[in-house]
Amino acid sequence: MTELAAFVLLLTFAGAALFANRVAAKQAELVERARLIERIDRILPQTQCRRCTFAGCRPYATAIADGAADINQCPPGGDATAAALAALLGRAPKPVDPRFGTMPSIPMVAWIDEPACIGCTKCIQACPVDAIVGAPRHMHTVIAAECTGCELCIPPCPVDCIVMRPAHELVTETTHPSALLDAVAS
Ligand code: SF4
Ligand code: SF4
Ligand code: SF4
Repeated sequence: MTELAAFVLLLTFAGAALFANRVAAKQAELVERARLIERIDRILPQTQCRRCTFAGCRPYATAIADGAADINQCPPGGDATAAALAALLGRAPKPVDPRFGTMPSIPMVAWIDEPACIGCTKCIQACPVDAIVGAPRHMHTVIAAECTGCELCIPPCPVDCIVMRPAHELVTETTHPSALLDAVAS
């Protein structure tokens, strides 16, 4: 082997080693990012209300991890969630920014005025947690125990027959999902 060939071979090995190192570093970075997103997401309330301006809790968690969103954009989580995020990320705590909305003083859930419902299914399509049951052109109802109070079902309703009501009025033994399923089966 000539000196030139040996040199070329050496360069090839060095390039391959460098490339492998870069791939390994990139993989480690991706794993670390995924872990961070998971840890942030576990802190969030999973209401999926989109008040943070993202498509749900996980997209918001991803944006925080990527530095594209602040820690104080989740009204349902409140200041406690913002503080937990600050602790996780080693940042100074800050209260929730009111520009992202405020929460009612008591937990609320959606309620459908069933006689007024025209069965268009638009509320079902809007609900991020499958808390509404019903079939096309038939009355729809909210499973109160599953409702997170996100209010996303209200704007799409063409007949304005969905309102928010205090959760304690509606989340009872008879509105628990198992009771509703029993009622449907009977
Ligand atoms: S505002 Fe909070 S609860 Fe609502 S989607 Fe965003 S992170 Fe989830
Ligand atoms: S029923 Fe309405 S308020 Fe309740 S979780 Fe579904 S979309 Fe949100
Ligand atoms: S959007 Fe309104 S009218 Fe349509 S199914 Fe839901 S509650 Fe009924």
